[in-house]
Amino acid sequence: MKAIKRVRRNKLLFLAITIYLFLLGTMPDKAIQSSKNSMYYIIEMLEIMPVIFILTSLIEAWVPRKAIENSFGENSGIKGTIFSFLLGSFSAGPIYAAFPVCKMLLKKGASTSNIVVILSAWAVIKVPMLANEVKFLGAKFMAIRWILTTTSIFIMAYIMSKVVKKEDLLHEEEKQANENAVLAIKSQYCIGCGLCTKLSPDTFIICDKKAKLINENIQLQNTDNAESINNTIEKCPTKAIYFRNISSF
Ligand code: SF4
Repeated sequence: MKAIKRVRRNKLLFLAITIYLFLLGTMPDKAIQSSKNSMYYIIEMLEIMPVIFILTSLIEAWVPRKAIENSFGENSGIKGTIFSFLLGSFSAGPIYAAFPVCKMLLKKGASTSNIVVILSAWAVIKVPMLANEVKFLGAKFMAIRWILTTTSIFIMAYIMSKVVKKEDLLHEEEKQANENAVLAIKSQYCIGCGLCTKLSPDTFIICDKKAKLINENIQLQNTDNAESINNTIEKCPTKAIYFRNISSF
C-alpha cells in the first residue's frame, strides 16, 4: 500500500525510470546518452537547490504572512506587480529554482497573477542577460524585445488570474493533507511567552512554562476559530505552532 502511494506521489519519476529501462532494452546507446544528459542536470540541480531550499525555508519561517500579502497579495495592486517584476528580473539561477520560491509565496498569500509575473520575468528578463543581449544583438533589438516581452507578461498574468484560481494550484495531496492536518505545538521551540493564549484563549493555555492545546484534535475545517488560529500561527515568535498531517503520526 505504501509502495503504491509512493509511486503515485512520484509518478513522473517512475515514468522516467520506465522509459530509461525501455530504452536500455531497445536502444542502449540512446539510453546511455540520455543518462549522461540527465546526470549533468541532476548534478547542476544538486549544486543549486540546497541553497534555494534553505533560503525558501528561512523566508517561510521568518517573513510574516502579512508582509507577503501586502507585497505580492491580491490587494497589493500595481505595487505588487512592480515588486514581482523586479524580484523575477533581478533573480539569479535557472527557472526551476523559481518554483519552490513561488510555491512558498503562493502559500503565504501571493496572488496568482504576481506568481506569473515572477516566473515569467525570472525566465526571460534577467537583467545581467540584457547587457549580453545588447552586445550580441544590439540595443534596439534588446529594447523592442524587452518592451514586447514585458507587455506580454502583464497580459498573461491578467489572463491567468482570471482563468486559474489559487486553489487549483494546490496539489491534490496537499489539499488532502491540509484537510487532515491537526493543530500541534513544537514544545522544544516554545519559549512560553504566552502570546498564543492572548490571541487564541479558547485554544491555548500555558502549562509548566510551555504552551499546550486545550483540545488536542483541532482541524481547520472543524473549528470556529480558524482565523484566530491562523493569526496566532503567524504571530508566534518562534514558529512553534503548526498544522501536522495526521498521516505523519
Ligand atoms: S506564542 Fe509560541 S512561543 Fe509563545 S507561548 Fe505560544 S507557542 Fe510558545
